[in-house]
Amino acid sequence: MTERQEYSNFLKHLFGTRVQKLNVNAGFTCPNRDGTLGIGGCTYCNNASFTPAFGRCSSSVTQQLLDAKHFYRGKYADTKYLAYFQSFTGTYAPVDKLRLLYDEALSVPDVVGLVVSTRPDCIGNEVLDLLEDINNDHRVIVEIGVESSHDRTLKLINRCHSWQCAQDAIKQLAQRGLVVGAHLILGLPGEDENDMMTTVDEIGKLPLATVKFHQLQVIKGTRLAHEWSRGDVEVVDWTPQEYADLCRRIIGRIPKHIIIERMVSTAPPQLLLHPKWGLKPAQFKEIFESDFE
Ligand code: SF4
Repeated sequence: MTERQEYSNFLKHLFGTRVQKLNVNAGFTCPNRDGTLGIGGCTYCNNASFTPAFGRCSSSVTQQLLDAKHFYRGKYADTKYLAYFQSFTGTYAPVDKLRLLYDEALSVPDVVGLVVSTRPDCIGNEVLDLLEDINNDHRVIVEIGVESSHDRTLKLINRCHSWQCAQDAIKQLAQRGLVVGAHLILGLPGEDENDMMTTVDEIGKLPLATVKFHQLQVIKGTRLAHEWSRGDVEVVDWTPQEYADLCRRIIGRIPKHIIIERMVSTAPPQLLLHPKWGLKPAQFKEIFESDFE
């Protein structure tokens, strides 16, 4: 049976060299926060929990990338970089502005491609045209926030888009030749393992190159944190070992051609309310790989 490729090798093959993602905060917002679809955002969302310090400043895209390159200087030989538009919704701006921002990122020395993280309802025809055009000269990876295939869950967490919308966006991006990844969250309120497995099975039918998922984290200042602390919402309380077991079952259901980018997330300790595992990703990997039957 063919082995699943490691994510780092997948990127190396795609770009012909080792690449490092550099976070960029381009000042985007999100239609689920600016009033277009909603104002509160997804119930679990606090962008500060996944934006590194050098991506939070108000400096230009170029300066952020140069600062981030400086941060990684000397760590690895022969490394090139990908500009990672991760904060908020990476395609949520007029297409002319997007073009300027993406071009600016690609003009920074040693930046060889883009990773754009976005919502499935922010992939219109103009955005598809732009991404396809850039992808002709530089590889573009698009990460779609799917989270769950269950519309009742998407409603509960206030995603303000449907599962159908996510499927359509992924198919359209893949048809344009883009490398597409999906983002899922495990342990969303109201979901049991069967629900999660259904999502995983559905995801496996889509034209995806990568999947990344992580445990639901309760982050300070979010609506989920308020609901959870009041006892209005129950959040699953896995031990790292239990979660690692679940990851193994999940990965066993994902077709081998889909690369697993990651399976755990670690919000900054000062923001994290639950679960407080206190593990770095490498430590979780050790648990995942150890035999604890
Ligand atoms: S998780 Fe993404 S889509 Fe949801 S509110 Fe946050 S930035 Fe917007």
